[in-house]
Amino acid sequence: MTLHFQSRFSLKALNTLGFDAVAERFVRVRSIDELLELRDEVKRSSSPLLILGGGSNLVLADAVPGIVAQLAIEGRAFEALDAESVRVTVGGGENWHELVRSSLGQGLYGLENLALIPGSVGAAPVQNIGAYGVEVKDLIEAVEVYDWAEDRVYWLDNRSCDFAYRDSRFKRESGRYLITRVRFLLSRQPHTVTSYAPLREVLSPQQREQPEAVFDAVCRIRSEKLPDPRELGNAGSFFKNPVVSAEDHRRLKSAYPSLVSFPEGEGRFKLAAGWLIDQLGWKGRRMQNVGVHAKQALVLVNYGGGDRGQLEKLANAIQRDVLDAYGVELEPEPRFYP
Ligand SMILES: Cc1cc2nc3c(=O)[nH]c(=O)nc-3n(C[C@H](O)[C@H](O)[C@H](O)COP(=O)(O)OP(=O)(O)OC[C@H]3O[C@@H](n4cnc5c(N)ncnc54)[C@H](O)[C@@H]3O)c2cc1C
Repeated sequence: MTLHFQSRFSLKALNTLGFDAVAERFVRVRSIDELLELRDEVKRSSSPLLILGGGSNLVLADAVPGIVAQLAIEGRAFEALDAESVRVTVGGGENWHELVRSSLGQGLYGLENLALIPGSVGAAPVQNIGAYGVEVKDLIEAVEVYDWAEDRVYWLDNRSCDFAYRDSRFKRESGRYLITRVRFLLSRQPHTVTSYAPLREVLSPQQREQPEAVFDAVCRIRSEKLPDPRELGNAGSFFKNPVVSAEDHRRLKSAYPSLVSFPEGEGRFKLAAGWLIDQLGWKGRRMQNVGVHAKQALVLVNYGGGDRGQLEKLANAIQRDVLDAYGVELEPEPRFYP
């Protein structure tokens, strides 16, 4: 056996909230062969298993039972399909932002709006990461998985991943699939997306055509708006933007004319969860060692010494307030484990 299991392993540096969680056993998995060894050990010990990427979308309890396996499969392969399209196959353990940055450096475009999202390539399809008008599903051709139910490794094409807003088959059937590689279709021709108002506003008409300028602007806006997890523990946006019917949207808009919302198709509307929370005076509020970020009401932070219990209390209080005020349910975006 080449896998190296470590007992009572601190995950404090491996989750961006900085919670002092301790894994019963921890291991890094660097190849498909090691993955198959992990499968044998999970079956032999009947352990619960958590697959960990960069820990930026997880709320961990103090004690994490069973095995925590960090996926560290690396590697990139490029295949030109024609004069414009390039197929890029990337190991699930690669760093997401590094992929975005280096693709751009090689003149391969499409990922620039998704710059500075923390975490791994393998986790990107799980919640179909998105930002500034682009979702990763728009660039994914296929996802390679190890399927625990079928005990084999195979490729799922884009359609089979059932992508939706911050959702996918991998999130809905949590625990079934381990993502080993992701295949992207990138372009040598710039096709920038600058429909998102805060991005558009900071770019000149000329810059809107340049992926490098879009990348720089996204990095700048994000650094100004979002706390760096290395300085202040957080998991990015803590709640999904709720989607409501046209009727609910009309009701809310007449009660709150400044409501921030976007058409979501099929007559439905997406509400800005940050706006709903901000209006209720939550921005900058602190409860014990956790709180709501002073600049961004959608981001819950750990000031140091916070834990899952404290964060749950805060999140529940916000959810109750939002439900009472607007009749809208907020759903957390990160996964709570266990
Ligand atoms: C400051 C900040 C900003 C953020 N901004 C955004 C944003 O703009 N848009 C956005 O969509 N998200 C955002 N996020 C959330 C987060 O970065 C993404 O969800 C990211 O894809 C999580 O990657 P990770 O490797 O850290 O996953 P983890 O947190 O380690 O895991 C998340 C989930 O995916 C599962 N998982 C991880 N790797 C694999 C794998 N290889 N196979 C199967 N399952 C796996 C885990 O079991 C878990 O359920 C932000 C987070 C932070 C802290």
